Amino acid sequence: IQWDKDRGWHDAQVHAYGPLSLDPAAAVLHYGQEIFEGIKAYRHADGSIWTFRPEANGARLQRSAARLALPQLPVDEFVESLRQLVAVDHAWVPSAPESSLYFRPFMIASEAFLGVRAAQVATYYVIASPAGAYFAKGVAPVSIWLSEDYARAAKGGTGAAKCGGNYAASLLPQQEAQAQGCSQVLFLDPVEGKYLEELGGMNVFLVYRDGRLVTPELSGSILEGITRSSILQLARDRGMTVEERRVSIDEWKAGVASGEIAEVFACGTAAVVTPIGELKGKDFAVGDIHAPAGEVTMALRRELTDIQHGRAPDRHGWMARLR
Ligand code: PMP
Repeated sequence: IQWDKDRGWHDAQVHAYGPLSLDPAAAVLHYGQEIFEGIKAYRHADGSIWTFRPEANGARLQRSAARLALPQLPVDEFVESLRQLVAVDHAWVPSAPESSLYFRPFMIASEAFLGVRAAQVATYYVIASPAGAYFAKGVAPVSIWLSEDYARAAKGGTGAAKCGGNYAASLLPQQEAQAQGCSQVLFLDPVEGKYLEELGGMNVFLVYRDGRLVTPELSGSILEGITRSSILQLARDRGMTVEERRVSIDEWKAGVASGEIAEVFACGTAAVVTPIGELKGKDFAVGDIHAPAGEVTMALRRELTDIQHGRAPDRHGWMARLR
């Protein structure tokens, strides 16, 4: 869908996947004026196709757009764009267990000019790709690397927006994590370097043995995950005490060492819920990667995936039918 200052959103089209043609002076190529989303479609047993809380992704795209000085795409147009894409060929939505169709909606500043200002021409796209089960061999705990040299976000920066630049900044620390045998990097707050923020692409949770579920508060520099808010709701439904607050890295280390923290996990659209078996840094390691995934982690994971795949009642009205 095209946007310009005079006409607003116009010229919505669905066409065959292929390369884009962009002016070499397009603002996105120089100043990174770009935002995106990630959301999935699920085929239920009766063949119907559903997505999960699309209004939440649409609203987050609007918040990202506001921060990146991009235009506001109405939430119903966002949801309709997913519906239109599935309508072209719904056979894309796989039916194998735990599989889905991953949508990647994104918006770029497509105006051609070289001055530094907000573009007055933008384009919104959605591409899609079938995704198999994230843990093909069963859900297994992963190791996480604590990034001590790099922050993902800055005070007053774009950390709470889903924009490409945040991910550009996280690629080097992510490479470092992988070189240390870890699958994801953990970032601390950009001001004191003391409090947990999030992983490269997931929000993080601590499960206390006394039944509390603790996650970093929305600090202004972490992404407001849709899986995060869903997990908080499911935990409240189970009668758990939920705490959204500042959590220091020392609290994690000490809690795991003393046994007060029983489980740690991360969550996001791609992997849903991933048990964390170990936290490693330059001069320490806590946890036991070989431990089985925790019970609370797996129960929350199962509840959420059962709702998404239509195996459990949608008691919060989270599912939206696409076809
Ligand atoms: N934090 C970051 C940095 C992410 O990229 C993601 C994935 N979108 C998340 C958290 C989790 O968000 P969601 O649950 O909406 O996928």
